[in-house]
Amino acid sequence: MSLEDLYSDIILDYARNPQFQGEIPDATIKEDGKNLSCGDEITLYLKIENNIVKEAKFSGHGCIVSQSSAALLCETIEGKTLEDTRKILDEVEKMAQGEEFNEDLIGNVAIYSEISKFPVRVKCFTLAWHTLENSIEDFEE
Ligand code: ZN
Repeated sequence: MSLEDLYSDIILDYARNPQFQGEIPDATIKEDGKNLSCGDEITLYLKIENNIVKEAKFSGHGCIVSQSSAALLCETIEGKTLEDTRKILDEVEKMAQGEEFNEDLIGNVAIYSEISKFPVRVKCFTLAWHTLENSIEDFEE
């Protein structure tokens, strides 16, 4: 399997989709994340009301994998409770490590089901998710 196989059209569409790009001025959480090995940088913005992610956006720059993964993250967690968001995080982490995961829980993120076969790209993929994990921990403190 080559890297070209990983970069399917749907992944390119997510990387280019402006829907989830930008800032949320009155965000409840703003969290920066960096992947030094590739130079990917994102800032994740979450608006949380009554323990529900009302809105999720990101800004930053980086490779196709990091950008599309961030867009997928925003799409997947919008409208979810923090509890469900944590469950999604767990499943995505399993997928990134090549373990069995619950595909039903993670929606379109499953287009990256082969990511664990590309060790160099796993950090690009998990950047947004680790940033999300940190942001939830900060929020709960
Ligand atoms: Zn990258």
